[in-house]
Amino acid sequence: MTYDVINPATEKVVRTVEPADEAQTDAAIARAAKAFETWRNVTPADRGRLLRRFADAVDADLDHLAALEVENAGHTIGNARWEAGNVRDVLTYYAAAPERLFGKQIPVAGGIDVTFQEPLGVVGVIVPWNFPMPIAGWGFAPALAAGNTVVLKPAELTPLTAIRLGELALQAGLPADVFQVLPGAGKVVGQRFVTNPAVRKVVFTGSTAVGKQIMAGCADQVKRVTLELGGKSANIVFADADLAKAAAQAPYGVFDNAGQDCCARSRILVERTAYDRFLELLEPAVKAFKVGDPSDPATEMGPLISRQQLDRVASYVENPAFQGSAPSGPGFWFPPTVLEHVVPDEIFGPVVSVVPFTDEADAVRQANDSEYGLSGSIWTRDVGRALRVSRGVEAGNLSVNSNSSVRYSTPFGGYKQSGLGRELGPDALDAFTETKNIFISTED
Ligand code: NAD
Repeated sequence: MTYDVINPATEKVVRTVEPADEAQTDAAIARAAKAFETWRNVTPADRGRLLRRFADAVDADLDHLAALEVENAGHTIGNARWEAGNVRDVLTYYAAAPERLFGKQIPVAGGIDVTFQEPLGVVGVIVPWNFPMPIAGWGFAPALAAGNTVVLKPAELTPLTAIRLGELALQAGLPADVFQVLPGAGKVVGQRFVTNPAVRKVVFTGSTAVGKQIMAGCADQVKRVTLELGGKSANIVFADADLAKAAAQAPYGVFDNAGQDCCARSRILVERTAYDRFLELLEPAVKAFKVGDPSDPATEMGPLISRQQLDRVASYVENPAFQGSAPSGPGFWFPPTVLEHVVPDEIFGPVVSVVPFTDEADAVRQANDSEYGLSGSIWTRDVGRALRVSRGVEAGNLSVNSNSSVRYSTPFGGYKQSGLGRELGPDALDAFTETKNIFISTED
């Protein structure tokens, strides 16, 4: 039975999609397991070449992929172009990996000892709706580079760009069944990645609640798992910072992608002596934030993903300090909103809390007062303090005098209940390989 994929800016049907059922999922996993036997033996140079061709195919299709994401996810065209470019860049970065997948030679008595980084087999990648393209690429690119085959399940709401990436992989010459995209329900397709023993690893990005179920399910087979989960990140602004810059950039640190970003700096902690001044500077920046038609290049924020998400976000907003504007009429619109109290849950919408702190210790204490620990920012001109606070905050990705968290060449992942393991960067292949140790005797 097909279902409708909706444009969140217009509420119109974009396309109907056929979800995979359990039998189709098992069949795809079986094909992936068979394809693994050849893919793992493709020479490193050829595997790298195929991934570079895949990157080129993504690049050639960039405008189409971006337009598809604007329609399916309501992402601004600027963001959607960046996201398609990110898939290309992640593929290019990991295309160099097959020829650099070094083992070690370890000094031992009586012979030589070498290690090999061997692929795991079939990897199941489960993707959320908030960044359908990048999050897919962070999973499938290093997994394929390491010699695994991949089955990927996009979120129910946003399957279109993933389906297109699957087509582009084939066009680029990846052998059939090395990379398969299976749209479908989490409880059907995603659950089968967890329970089918031929899937040797699950890469899950999504909510902490579902991530816990995945981890528990994977325990049954001691299945490898990487989890990228929720966040409630702090943006810490000290009085000595460039306050104008910190206030001008704070809206982008939380309202980008309509706040549906696991790295959203949804708590702004401001040193009390600068608190009033910061709010004065923040208010015009929030009110000027341009919310509207995501296909207009000048737009800075589009709609929320669904009616359900809109209702959820709205339910958290009481007594806002101030709000920006949003279109009325069809579409799942919510204005950028500022609260002067903290909501402990991850709201996953364009809502930010601004609260004061007294000193450095209080800033670190408040930043860490969350079950999450994904990202965060520290704004100060004092280098020593920037480092002390960065080391004190329990989060995987921190930025000083910046709100950006993601670079494909650096590790990404969460502390505490924000996740398990790291993606991206030079070490991502560790998460997609086993280490095999071989001792060779040199005795007569
Ligand atoms: P979700 O957990 O509802 O769904 C994520 C994916 O899991 C979807 O593909 C869904 O179909 C699938 N799924 C749902 N139930 C499943 C089950 N029982 N078994 C297997 N798969 C299942 O999350 P969402 O609402 O799509 O995404 C929003 C969440 O994702 C937020 O909490 C956000 O913070 C988090 N997120 C984290 C990161 C990160 O890198 N840490 C990045 C993006 C989003």
